[in-house]
Amino acid sequence: MLIVFIGPPGSGKGTQSKRLLEHLQIPHLSTGDLLREAKAANSSLGRLAAQYMDQGRLVPDPLVLALVGEKLREPKFKRGVMFDGFPRTLQQARALDESLAQRGTPLDMVLELRADENELTTRMLRRASQEGRTDDNPQTIAHRMEVYRQQTAPLLDYYRFKGMLTPIDAMGSPDEVFERIKAAVARRQPA
Ligand code: AMP
Repeated sequence: MLIVFIGPPGSGKGTQSKRLLEHLQIPHLSTGDLLREAKAANSSLGRLAAQYMDQGRLVPDPLVLALVGEKLREPKFKRGVMFDGFPRTLQQARALDESLAQRGTPLDMVLELRADENELTTRMLRRASQEGRTDDNPQTIAHRMEVYRQQTAPLLDYYRFKGMLTPIDAMGSPDEVFERIKAAVARRQPA
């Protein structure tokens, strides 16, 4: 199964996609995690990416696509992929469609986590003090929300038009949201 998770910053994409991967036993591919690893390793890619991430901007498409392309060649992703935080732009979505078409494994579903922006901002500020993420301060959070609206939200129409989009109400406890996700996935999976 190939599943994409899309949701505004703080909507719980990371948490929920990790729960779902345990449930479905599908390998997880989070571009945010990969970029944070590259940044922590202080590689040239990481240093470049950090300049964008620390300002709440998207890392340029060619960098992200190279990173994902390399990862997808790993044998474990032959079984399926849970994409978390990728694609985030139309260019990334089109590139993903092309590379999946070449592999002969199209996407199965796109889960959209929907939540109230004010609630998300509160959640993220709480997380900032717990995890110490350098991209979680009020200005960066506001900017990441704006980037989501402008660059990532258009993807929703792209996938809706293809009949792949499944909206999930992401308000409520992580357990409640996960139950909704499991139900949506079960509806899509052949019996
Ligand atoms: P996330 O953990 O998914 O919220 O990602 C954290 C940050 O990493 C984002 O604010 C971006 O700066 C960068 N990032 C993660 N995924 C992507 C992507 N698909 N395209 C561009 N930038 C990304």
